[in-house]
Amino acid sequence: MLDEKTLKKLLLNFHGPGGRYAYFPFRHDWSITFDGSNPRDSWSTLFSENMRLPDGQSTSSPLTIDLYLHLPFCEQLCTFCGCNIAVTKDHQVERPYIETILRELDYYRERLGPLTVNSIYFGGGTPNFLSPENLQFLLQGIFSKIATSETFFGTIEIDPRHLNPEFVAVLAQYKIKRFILGVQDLDPQTMANVNRPQNLSVLEKSIETIARIENYFLSADLIYGLPLQTQDRVMHTITELSRLPLHAVSLYPLAQAFWQKQHQVAFGQFSTYSPETMVQLFLRGDSVLKEHDFQSVGFGHYFRTAHADSKIILEGRGARNVSGLSPRLTPYLLGLGVGAISTFPNLYWQNQRVLEQYKRQIGGTDGHPERAHLRTDVQRFFGTFFEKLICQKVASNALIDEAESKYTLPEKNLHLELLAQLHVHQILTPTEDGIQVSELGTYFMKSICQAFDPYFLGRK
Ligand code: SF4
Repeated sequence: MLDEKTLKKLLLNFHGPGGRYAYFPFRHDWSITFDGSNPRDSWSTLFSENMRLPDGQSTSSPLTIDLYLHLPFCEQLCTFCGCNIAVTKDHQVERPYIETILRELDYYRERLGPLTVNSIYFGGGTPNFLSPENLQFLLQGIFSKIATSETFFGTIEIDPRHLNPEFVAVLAQYKIKRFILGVQDLDPQTMANVNRPQNLSVLEKSIETIARIENYFLSADLIYGLPLQTQDRVMHTITELSRLPLHAVSLYPLAQAFWQKQHQVAFGQFSTYSPETMVQLFLRGDSVLKEHDFQSVGFGHYFRTAHADSKIILEGRGARNVSGLSPRLTPYLLGLGVGAISTFPNLYWQNQRVLEQYKRQIGGTDGHPERAHLRTDVQRFFGTFFEKLICQKVASNALIDEAESKYTLPEKNLHLELLAQLHVHQILTPTEDGIQVSELGTYFMKSICQAFDPYFLGRK
């Protein structure tokens, strides 16, 4: 590996705007908006014609799916937040929202037939905004309607400030044992400035609660680039975290959304950092994580092998969807809740993103999502190609040849030029049968994806 100074220089050289490969799906073409202008904009026809695999797989066999549930409620707004949320302290909102989600599940069961669920993921908002009783009502409602696969697993995003043992006990009862803690930073001043008062003792308490259940998996999300953060503070936060029984950490750059500045200025001090400072903050965090046995798999995700799930991902046997990297996933992700995205092999769609409109989408007789997209053959091919590159860190010569056959001439020249740069810096290294992402290459996953992405190459 390179020394820090050279790595910093290289990261800055490759720095630039580009595709959202860290997210899923990578790109939202959203060619269908149901505004009456598209001849195929009848949602029920579109869905029934495109809900199964493109190879004509039988529609009578039970479908195994992954489920994503969006629970948007938060008691307080964190000013850096870029999620689809509804801020309220009124917990009366829980039950009607859950009832809407269960109705939405019925809608799909009527059309897809019997379902088996391979995994469930709760995102938000704050999923643990729900009371244990309402969580039980939700899970009972789901699992009375659909069966679970033998290898079923469940994951939930947790705000450590609001976790109680009864809530965790209900999750464990339904085999939901993977926890992603929203930590962001442990410095009290930094956190107070973004309207999220939180400290180490709150985090330790919630981890103690989780650690009582058998075979739990624990990950923490951190952000670098928050106002008031310094290199020392980032290092201190990660040093403290590394002592805790975490299996994974995600270190994300602060997402720059246009509304954040408004919120931040209203609540506290606002500052943005230069690319040099952002890279330096990232490298400080990265070095502490590595000192504590975390290994990078790219896009800011780090794992350590104290858990079988970490091993699967570090060995390149994982998969990814909208919920990030997981041990195993199906090609069918069904998203329930406001703004949730579903991705099927032929089609992806996003529910209405405004809560009241989502309720109308599910409650009405002719409700439809906000937007959708029919995948082309080329998009399906590159979806699979990037999945392999990001999870397994390899691409065979046969796959590369097929990718290159899809570029037009100016795109192909740029692709070859970018590929050559990646080889010169040993970000990609040759294998007998193709290429692999080197250890250094995990820092440059976005640049690697861009070098193959016909959309990026065509726009340059
Ligand atoms: S708790 Fe999470 S989802 Fe809610 S406002 Fe804060 S960052 Fe956003």
